[in-house]
Amino acid sequence: MSKELLLILLALVLLPLAVASVLNAPPMEPPQGDLGGPVGISPAQVFATYRVRPGDTLASISRRYGVPVEYLQASNGIADPKRLRAGTVILLPREGVVHVVKEGQTLGDIAESYGVSELEIIAANDLNGLPLPGDKLLIPHPAEIPWLEALELGWRPDSLFVWPLKGRLTSLFGPRVHPIFGTPDFHTGIDFAVPEGTPVHAAAAGRVSFAGERGGYGLLVVVEHPGGFSTYYAHLSRILAEEGQFVEQGQVIALSGNTGLSTGPHLHFEIRRHGKPVDPLSWLP
Ligand SMILES: [Zn+2]
Repeated sequence: MSKELLLILLALVLLPLAVASVLNAPPMEPPQGDLGGPVGISPAQVFATYRVRPGDTLASISRRYGVPVEYLQASNGIADPKRLRAGTVILLPREGVVHVVKEGQTLGDIAESYGVSELEIIAANDLNGLPLPGDKLLIPHPAEIPWLEALELGWRPDSLFVWPLKGRLTSLFGPRVHPIFGTPDFHTGIDFAVPEGTPVHAAAAGRVSFAGERGGYGLLVVVEHPGGFSTYYAHLSRILAEEGQFVEQGQVIALSGNTGLSTGPHLHFEIRRHGKPVDPLSWLP
């Protein structure tokens, strides 16, 4: 390789880095009321913080510092953007969403949850090792933000689960006549009438313990959650998660369908506790 070619290659590598460091420069106007230190430090990541003043709204902070409202909301776990309490210290990430790494969550899992590549996360955080639980990572300009999905699906601080999707309920939990066999039957979940291909979301964060075909369930995803809970998503047309993968609450894990013992397109959803089906309506928000 000639010397000139090497120099050109070097320039091609260094130029984007130089541009990126300019883009990542702190805002011109320094955040007011900064506590004087970072709220969280991951291997090479320090985020600007801001102490909310009376009269601030997420929209006004967003305009002042050029951070999209969605990034502010997701990075700080803000459920209701209208109820912002003065004195609260929030993170101000301009280039994406701040994610706190959970126990057992790999870089690959996080990349899947946000629809970005592992390499983008590594580059954005200057990672030179595996992130540890509790580390704060910048997810650069995510394609999906599970936290916002969870809010759309009814997230509440006092509820473990969100709805797997929004749709008309056509069959409830409990004794019924079987829709295909016409015999007495116990319905172990609830059914939502939705067109085939409707996105199905994880009702809570957890690990996918089954993803595949299972008898009458057709294409099925099972997610294990803390506290002995598991959730079942059945009759799917397409599975978008893998066994062993850690999924976030609200993350799209499948598309609804009409597979297995099913009389029409719908989602069958179960919540089980220690393996025993419970009435999802008493656990959903
Ligand atoms: Zn059902």
